[in-house]
Order: sequence, then structure tokens, then C-alpha cells
Amino acid sequence: MGKNLLGLVLDNRRAKKEGPEGIGRRQRERLGAMIAFARANSPFYRKLYADLPEQPVRLEHLPVATKKWLMGEFDQWVTDRSIKFADAQAFADDPSKVGERFHGYTLATTSGTSGTKGIFVYDDHAMAVTQSIAARMLMSWLSFGDLFKIIAGSGRMAMVMAKGGHFASAVAAAALKRRRKDKLLQLSVHDPVPELVASLNDFQPVLMTPYASIASLLATEQEQGRLHIRPALLALSAEGLAPEEYGRIARAFNAKVGNSYASTEVPCLSFSCAHGWLHVNTDWATFEPVDSEFKRVPKGQVSHTVLVSNLANRLQPVLRYDLGDSVIERPDPCPCGSPFPAIRVQGRASDLVRFAGPGGQDVTMPPMAFYALLDPVPGVDLYQVVQTAPDALRVRLAISGDAATVWQRVEADMRDLLARHGLGHVRFERGDEPPEQTQGGKIRPIIPFKVKGLNP
Ligand SMILES: [Zn+2]
Repeated sequence: MGKNLLGLVLDNRRAKKEGPEGIGRRQRERLGAMIAFARANSPFYRKLYADLPEQPVRLEHLPVATKKWLMGEFDQWVTDRSIKFADAQAFADDPSKVGERFHGYTLATTSGTSGTKGIFVYDDHAMAVTQSIAARMLMSWLSFGDLFKIIAGSGRMAMVMAKGGHFASAVAAAALKRRRKDKLLQLSVHDPVPELVASLNDFQPVLMTPYASIASLLATEQEQGRLHIRPALLALSAEGLAPEEYGRIARAFNAKVGNSYASTEVPCLSFSCAHGWLHVNTDWATFEPVDSEFKRVPKGQVSHTVLVSNLANRLQPVLRYDLGDSVIERPDPCPCGSPFPAIRVQGRASDLVRFAGPGGQDVTMPPMAFYALLDPVPGVDLYQVVQTAPDALRVRLAISGDAATVWQRVEADMRDLLARHGLGHVRFERGDEPPEQTQGGKIRPIIPFKVKGLNP
């Protein structure tokens, strides 16, 4: 562990010990420093914050930033003038560069659950903070018994991830792979369930990081005796499940199940406790559940959206940024004793897509398989996959560039994906209409077919 990282881990411990007062002090200091740095080094923020008073600036005085706006101002937004959007885009469009350094930084792209694609570049301090928060998360989840199990299993880790794009998980996997190649199994969200099961039975991981919907599928495989592994921990990400699902997964594997809610914009945002709440790391992030006019909603009420700041990454300051999720903050202290705010997230549901297989059997695919296919396609700005019947899909796209070329690639990739899952008979077509927005202005990337008793 580097000296810098050890220092961060120790300070994170002190923050937690000092409670809300110590956490709040760190947040204020780091926010003040980030605003000052952004004003001095980002032409975008210098202009945006021109009329704000000098320090101390209060969070609620800051204008709200959106992904669309920031991405449109990319070259003015970054605080290193040598970083250009065109270069970042070219790097992000090249799958052979996943996990490589970009101008001395780390680059990741957002998975398309929210509309505009994002490209995020982190400095090494931000990466160290993310690692230190990962350490905080593991220490809160694991007992000595779990640690023993992990060490006895040589730390063998299975990641089920989106390959082919610069998603944060793929970037992390590339870094891990350099250090411990033979202890890491990388599986793809595109692999059919029987293939995942065979690989996992063979590898016997003690740690797993699947998307939540894939963990659900695997728990069923374990319950039905086709999968037989004994992991100590499943760290789930990216999607929400019904609360009882976490318990079922834990029982199926007799393992700890941790869950985190974060974003590429703020990678160290929150992680779950044993009581099923997510605790926000408010020493390294700001977090404001707000109504549609960006006014703070009282605790216990469902918010319209949530505004967040990343207090670790100076290269691309994310300040009072509209994340687009509805959350609810617990009004009373969480029984787990954590001093960090406890929240639940609405509307990141994992919409499993169930198809009628050729022999009438159910074939289930996780939504991430579609995100991972469509996100990396250059020229696809927005997408929505609508399941119009148990064996039919309609793909709505907003395309920039040559529509025929883009559609050709999407069509070929979709055919390939469906064929690998034994779903060569599934019809799919391109819709002429653009992706449909919800009342809140969000785009659901996957809309499964509603069958009574399925897809509740
Ligand atoms: Zn808790």
C-alpha cells in the first residue's frame, strides 16, 4: 500500500470515528478547496462562478451542472489544458486501449442509463481516494472469518463485466490483471448463463463482482444445483434489486452480499450496510436530494433528483451535478451505527428481459448485456430497446454520423448477442421514432415486455 493511500485510509477511519462533525468539516474544507481550484484552473467554472462571492461559498449557491452541459464544454471544463475532447473521444472509441493511461490519467466512460454519454478522466489522487473508500467498504462488510476464507482461497476473484468499452469496471479489471493475472477471472455480461456457470465452477472464486441482475440469475443456478461455488463476498453494482433479493442471494451462496450505488462521475459515492441501507461517503462527496426546482427535500421524502459533487478529482471537477436518480434519505440514525447519511435509491431497477426460447423455455438476459453492446458503438448517442413481444425487440436510436453504418454495426452485434443466448429466432427491428422519455425526462434504456406474473 502506497504511503499516500495509507494516509487516506487512516484519515477515512478518523473521519468515521469523529462522526457527523468531523465528516462535515472535511466536506466543507474539500469543497472549498475544489471550488477554488476549479475557479483557478477551469475556464468553464471561472465563467460559471464569476458572480459568486469569494470563500466561503455555500453549496446551495452553486449553479447546477448537467452531463450534457459539461460534456459540451469539455475542453473548457478540464483543468489540464492539454486534455482535449477529440483525443478523449478517440481513446474512448478504441477498445484496445481499455485501462491504458490517457495523458498520464485514468479514463472511463459512463454506461448509458441516462441519455448523454460521458467521458470522465481522473487524476491519481482521485484514484487513490477511490481505493481508500474501497478499503473502507471491505472493512465494513467483512468479518475475520470472511477474510480467512478469502486468504484461504488465494483471493481468487471473478468479475462479470461489460467488455469492449471503457466502463469503470473494465478499467479496474485491466489494472488488477496487471498485478494478479492468474487470480482474476473476467467474464462477460454477454456470456450465456450456462457458460458463466461452467467457468465459475471451474475457477471457484472467493470474491465476485457481478452486476446485480446477474447475481440474481446465478443465485438461482446455485439453488438448483447447477452452480456450486463458495464465495465469501459478492459485491454487486450498477442496478437495484428488490430488497428481498439481496437476502436470497446471500442465502444461496452462504456469503456476504454488499451493494454499492455510485456513478462514473463520483466513483466513491456510497455502499450498503447490513441493514440494507446505502451510506453516502459525505467526507469525499456532497449529496443533496432535491425537488424539481433543486430545493432540498426533507429527509424521509422521495426526491425528484439528487445533486452530487466529487471532492477528490481535480482534473474534471464535478460540482453540484444532477445525477438524475430519485432517492430517499432515512430520517433517523441507521441501526448499523454508521455516522454517514443512509439512503435508498429508486428507479435503478434491473429490468431482466425474459424471452420465449425456441423450445418454449424461458431465457433470461440481464439489461447490462444490452447496455454493454450499445454503449461503445461510436455514433449511438441515445438508445432504447423495447421488447414488444416475448420474441421481438424494437431498437430506438438517436444517431450522429452515418446512420446506415451505425445501424449495420448495431444489427450485426445484436444478431451475434441473441445467437449466443440461443435466441436466433428473436425478431428485431429499428424503430423510426426516437427513444421515449419518462415524465421526469429520463430514458429507460430497456423496456421489457410485460407478462402477468413476470417482470413485476
Ligand atoms: Zn446502516
